[in-house]
Formats: sequence, structure tokens, C-alpha cells
Amino acid sequence: MILDEKLEILSDAAKYDSSCSSSGSDRPVQRDGIGNGALGGICHSFSADGRCISLLKVLLTNHCVFDCAYCKNRSSNDIKRTAFAPEELARLTIEFYKRNYIEGLFLSSGIVKNADHTMELMLRCIRLLRNEYRFGGYIHLKLIPGASNELVLQAAKLADRVSSNIETPSEHSLKLLAPQKSKQSVLTPLALARETNISMSTQMIIGATPESDLDIVRLSESLYKKRFLKRVYYSAYIPINYDKRLPVPLNFKPPLLREHRLYQADWLLRFYGFASSEILDESAPFLDERLDPKSAWAIRNIHLFPVDVNRAGYEELIKVPGVGLAGAKKIIEARRFKKLGLDELKTLRIQTKKCRFFIVAKDHFPYEPPQEKIYTALANTEAKTNTINLFSLNGEAI
Ligand code: SF4
Repeated sequence: MILDEKLEILSDAAKYDSSCSSSGSDRPVQRDGIGNGALGGICHSFSADGRCISLLKVLLTNHCVFDCAYCKNRSSNDIKRTAFAPEELARLTIEFYKRNYIEGLFLSSGIVKNADHTMELMLRCIRLLRNEYRFGGYIHLKLIPGASNELVLQAAKLADRVSSNIETPSEHSLKLLAPQKSKQSVLTPLALARETNISMSTQMIIGATPESDLDIVRLSESLYKKRFLKRVYYSAYIPINYDKRLPVPLNFKPPLLREHRLYQADWLLRFYGFASSEILDESAPFLDERLDPKSAWAIRNIHLFPVDVNRAGYEELIKVPGVGLAGAKKIIEARRFKKLGLDELKTLRIQTKKCRFFIVAKDHFPYEPPQEKIYTALANTEAKTNTINLFSLNGEAI
């Protein structure tokens, strides 16, 4: 098979993995090397079908001995199979890099023979890049579930980011859909790699299994708290295979809005100081599709508002719907010079249509309508002005 055809098959096979964004590592070019891992050198863009556009995102092979129900490359699928030799892929990466096509490599793989054999092949490619070609550019390596400790540690030494996909939010669902994997085989490599301080991420498939958003958000929170991961990626389930283990028909629509809301909730966990119990609870275990989770929280907790934008601290301001992290900083800076009213807030690009129910400003006192009215007004505003890019991976929760 010619190289072009291999590339086409193996990059297409990798496109459903969304956990490939950069770790933001910052490594300068070496004197006798090429490439660097500098922050500015890595593009975070994703194409509409989920591929990361600045990294060469490929599988080493789409042969796989596992039979995960949701996966195109599972052993029971009758598809065209191929593999790169590690030397071939290392050479290709360097050629693409030199031609400025890519800034780094995202390398995953189907499982050939067993986890260790596969990990060895992937490591051979990465060693060639780092040691022979002196490639200092960005490398994200997928850890193969069940790989031995020694190989995981080598991967963590050579790559900028490693990831291992949790795939489903519960062990029960994982057993059902990916019986050859286990929670332990996925989490053990991450636990081991954590000791090396490498940046790590994972991906969860959303909508293929019955877990609620509360289950998902709780799991993410616990992974962040245990310092397991830098990022959790949520990937709306796209039916590819017919499989009776999957609870949804083939004409099922990928839950892109749910995915977007989960990214917003994730943002609240990581940057806004929210706990999962503030975002969702057992009585309402799914995120509201009509409203972003911070607005929904603020309406439920209306007794905490209004917040005076001319006096409130940073922690209070970032909890106001329509005020993001950068917006809160701008407010604090701007009010050093004058009192702020709605016009000044607009100039600072604060979303006054959202925040007006929750703030006091120089010329503005909210008239305190009932919660249902605020809900309707905000949901309508969101519906009208919603510019959500449903393929976006980063739903900042302002
Ligand atoms: S291990 Fe499962 S998810 Fe990974 S390539 Fe094989 S079948 Fe697909």
C-alpha cells in the first residue's frame, strides 16, 4: 500500500479521539536539534469533523485485537487495515514538520498482539523522533490500556502529553461496551505517569450509555482533584457501528449541545471554583440545554445576588453570569478610575444582557423579577444570540 493511502486510512481512523489538544509545554529548540515545544508553536484548532489541524494525528495501526462496541477499528469490523512501520511514521512526521504542515504529532494505535507490543512500536517511533532526528516538537502519545509500568514511564519521559481514554463514565458501561478494557487498565497508566508530572488528559464518550451529567461531572471533579488530569474531553457519541450493546439506533443524533454544556460545567469546575454539587444534584442530574450552567446556578441561588460591580471581589464577580475570568479582572482594573455603570460594562465587553439581573452598578439596580422570569429572559437571550459552535471543544462558561 502506498504511503498516501496509509496516511488517509490511519488519520481518518484517529479522528474520533478528541483528547489531542496541546499541553502547552514550553521547550526551546536544542542547539543541534529541530523544532520546539513552545506554547506559541502549537495550534489548538480543530477541524469540523474533530481532527486537530496542527498536529499530525494518526494511528500507528488500525489493526486491533479488541472489540469495543463504539469503535470503527474494532476487530469485528470489516474495514481496510494497515500499519505504519515506526521508522516510516517518524520519517513522515519530520518531513511534514520541515514543510511546515504540522507542529507536532498525536499518536494513538489499535492494539496489535497485546498492549506491551503496541506500546513498544509506538515508543520506537517516538525514540527515533527524539533521539535520531533530534525532534523537539510537540508529541502527544496515547497510553495503551494494560501496558507495563516500564513502558508507561518511558512514554512519559519522551512525550509532552499522554492520555488514556476512560471512554465511559462508569465501570459497568465500560464492561458492557469494551469488555477487554477495565477501569484499572485505563487508570493505572495514568496514575503511574502522574508521578512524572507529565501533562495528561482523557476522553469520555457522551450519550452512548445511560449515565447522567451529574455522574460525568462528579467523575471529572474527582479526576481533577486527585491531580490525575489536566483536561477531560467530552465527545458526543457518533454511532458508527450497529451493535445491540449500544442503546441508541444508528440514526441517533450526536448530543452536541449536551457536550457543549458539559464543557461549560467543566470550565466552572476548573477555573471558577465551583463544586459538582453546586452545578447539579440528584434532583436535577442533567444540565439544562436552554441555559448555561452558571446562569442556571445563579437563578437557583438568587439570594446571593445582586453583586455590586463597584465593590465586589474577584471571586464574587466571576460567579456573575455574563462576567468571565478576564471580564472580572477588567472590572477591577477599570473601577480604580471611575464608577462603573452598564455603559462602562458594555465597553469592557461584559455581557450586560446576562448580568443585569444579578448586579448593582452606578446607574443600575435590578428590579428583582421572579426566578421564572429571569430564566425565560436568559434562555430567550441565549437562543437569540447563541453563537455556540457545536463542534467547539472549549465552551468557556461565562
Ligand atoms: S482498543 Fe477499542 S477503542 Fe481502541 S482501537 Fe481497539 S477497538 Fe478501538
